[in-house]
Amino acid sequence: MSDFEKDFEEHFEEQIRPKEFTQFSGQEKITDNLKIFVKAALLRGESLDHVLLHGPPGLGKTTLAHIVANELNVNMRITSGPVLDKPGDLAGLLTGLEEGDVLFIDEIHRLSPVVEEYLYSAMEDYTIDIMLDKGPGARSVQLTLQPFTLLGATTRSGLLTAPLRARFGIQCHLEYYNAAVLKKIVLRSAGILDVEIDEQAAQEIASRSRGTPRIANALLRRVRDFAQVKGSGKIDTKITQYALDALNIDKRGLDQMDNKILSTIIHKFKGGPVGIGTIATAVSEEVGTLEEVYEPFLIQEGLLQRTPRGREATALAYEHLGIQSSENQTIF
Ligand code: ADP
Repeated sequence: MSDFEKDFEEHFEEQIRPKEFTQFSGQEKITDNLKIFVKAALLRGESLDHVLLHGPPGLGKTTLAHIVANELNVNMRITSGPVLDKPGDLAGLLTGLEEGDVLFIDEIHRLSPVVEEYLYSAMEDYTIDIMLDKGPGARSVQLTLQPFTLLGATTRSGLLTAPLRARFGIQCHLEYYNAAVLKKIVLRSAGILDVEIDEQAAQEIASRSRGTPRIANALLRRVRDFAQVKGSGKIDTKITQYALDALNIDKRGLDQMDNKILSTIIHKFKGGPVGIGTIATAVSEEVGTLEEVYEPFLIQEGLLQRTPRGREATALAYEHLGIQSSENQTIF
């Protein structure tokens, strides 16, 4: 991506990212609870307890972190697990925090073990040990930090160590969005982008977005391109269907890996049941990623079934891929 494209992307993100709970659609259980915890922290004048947000990519973890910091009226520092490779990097960030600030660590499951261990005392009693000097004269001093809130986000909560997980007082699991909520998100984004769209077109985009707001917003922008170049500028059902078909967007919103998983189960393993480890090897993906990122959506959509003997493709999966199920085939 060029610098220009990057700036453009960031500007776009900034424009459409909800800034308050009222602009954030769906995930009501999570937002209702967070609102209470934020209010209680504000009433007591204390920092909010540490929060872990977990769930598949694009569902709003970063957005919620921004909203929480915003509603707490504090600053948020942003970093990510792979970036923090030395305890010194983390110490620099932590000592720069002011009272009540939020430190957002994305992909927190990718923290190195030494950095993670360093985080424990910071989370628990707002202290860190800093080494002074090197070699035989080295000694450490304990530094007290300002009370802060760690907001961790992860797509792979299964990879978090038990001690780290236990230090988050608030844990939220984000679920895929249904089409009605995604439609609302598409209509809101279209309003911000100042593009005309009809309800049915918004519904069509929503239902082909894999239950994911990030995908819904991306599709909206692509469809807008088609509407401007090939249509009247207005997004209607006709141009939406034309654009989504031209972009090879799956009718159910499944991505390439979703389809690869289903077709592998059907073609290589006769529709299952087949163990998750075997599927992972066949599609060259990690078991944990299949379990936490892909499988929940396929199960929710009724395309995959978990049985005691392994994973099975459902009749709907056969239908989706346009394959005749062996059960439906007539044997002569
Ligand atoms: P994650 O951190 O989980 O990968 P993000 O918070 O970056 O996801 O969200 C991806 C995009 O989707 C952002 O542009 C955000 O504006 C949009 N988005 C996510 N959740 C919602 C929501 N509930 N309502 C409206 N827009 C949302």
